[in-house]
Amino acid sequence: MASQTGAIVQQSLNALMGDSSFLPLVQGQRREQAFQSLAAILSTPNKVHKAFLRIALEDGNVVRIPAFRIQHNDALGPYKGGIRFHESVSEDEVTNLAALMTLKNALHEVPFGGGKGGVVINPRSFSEKELYLICKKYVQYFSDILGPDKDIPAPDMGTGEREMDWMMAEYKSIHPGSPYLGSFTGKSLISGGSLGRREATGKGVYFTFRYMMHDFMRDNVGWLAGSSNPFAATALAYANKPMSIAVQGFGNVGSVTAMEAYKCTDIRGKVVAVSDRNVTLYNENGLDVPALVEYASTNRGDLPSTEETLKSSGIAGELLDREAVLYLNVDVLFLAALEDQIHCDNVNEVKARIIVEGANAPITGEADETLTSQGVIVVPDILANAGGVIVSYFEWLQGRETQFYAEAEVYNQLFAKMQKTMNSILPAYFGDPLSLRQNCFVHAVTKLSAVLYRQGKLY
Ligand code: GLU
Repeated sequence: MASQTGAIVQQSLNALMGDSSFLPLVQGQRREQAFQSLAAILSTPNKVHKAFLRIALEDGNVVRIPAFRIQHNDALGPYKGGIRFHESVSEDEVTNLAALMTLKNALHEVPFGGGKGGVVINPRSFSEKELYLICKKYVQYFSDILGPDKDIPAPDMGTGEREMDWMMAEYKSIHPGSPYLGSFTGKSLISGGSLGRREATGKGVYFTFRYMMHDFMRDNVGWLAGSSNPFAATALAYANKPMSIAVQGFGNVGSVTAMEAYKCTDIRGKVVAVSDRNVTLYNENGLDVPALVEYASTNRGDLPSTEETLKSSGIAGELLDREAVLYLNVDVLFLAALEDQIHCDNVNEVKARIIVEGANAPITGEADETLTSQGVIVVPDILANAGGVIVSYFEWLQGRETQFYAEAEVYNQLFAKMQKTMNSILPAYFGDPLSLRQNCFVHAVTKLSAVLYRQGKLY
């Protein structure tokens, strides 16, 4: 497991070791052994599957593309997690992301374990037909280990409904007569997907922020004002105040998060910057987010990135370097692009006091410590970006029943689930010195440990 997740899991275990209400029946030497078993189980994946997909390209060349499926832990249910298509995919990265899925599902009481897949390609460099072949081959190579009750992939960076539809179709033809709707989630509606799945991650990211800074603040302002906790002080400084917002990434997560922020009337927020792989767009008076979403939808997902295209789009804003979004003088920064965006070399240039992780692992461990020590509220990935997997769970349920929910029902259930998690985490966060990430990890590890103990896995 890459270091950051492993280190926080270890810190969580250390905190739980000294907590006498946790596993109270396991004492003395047995307690030490149980914690060693826990550390070993959580810090390593159950299974690592690797293949080289042989693909005949349209130009006649044959390539072998590295691909992974990593099954981290299934104590809480079948393995679950996306498949990423990106040129920087590596075994280490996928392992870390699979571990995060285990913790994310445990945190939100989603009855799945954690897994992740990856294919080392830049999907933009392949034709549609080649991508189709890559998807088919991925399922062929891993067909034995996938399935609705074994391991259920979903979209991640570089993949979406189209890829899930192709993959499910391949799964179906390899396993004729077996249930297949629950083999992949994040499918298109017509292939048995769920209403709201595409928007779920971005909506959940914004909901997490809104719930914390609006509903929770409103209901708890009394005791928060009396707390000496640094994060309570940061949150109170923004209570009922206007907030400037920047969003890094304008894909499936960032564009929806930006839209939610633009539309929200509970918080007096203004989206002053958005960015993508080419550019940051800035307007101190607020960007026309709907126009940008419209623009991106007709330009391969890209924002206007030259003076010419910006002018002809009619959108008012300034073009800045693509990294500039991280360093703007804003109150809130949503990170919805790649991992490792804020690290020890740039953390001191970041000015936002509230940072929400829409992407997985966008802040390195060291940078996270620096931000936390400065009283910055960092809302971690496993709390904020779980909307995708939560609605994946609803999609899986709907596929099993072949009964489908209305869109409003999906969002109501999604928000209710995220709210429940936050209500069990936020009071502790604003009352103790641990970061929100550490609080979430302790909560998830507690749940996993209790289940592993009950299942006799800690001896
Ligand atoms: N790839 C998403 C994540 O990282 C969604 C996973 C899923 O729906 O299974 O949470």
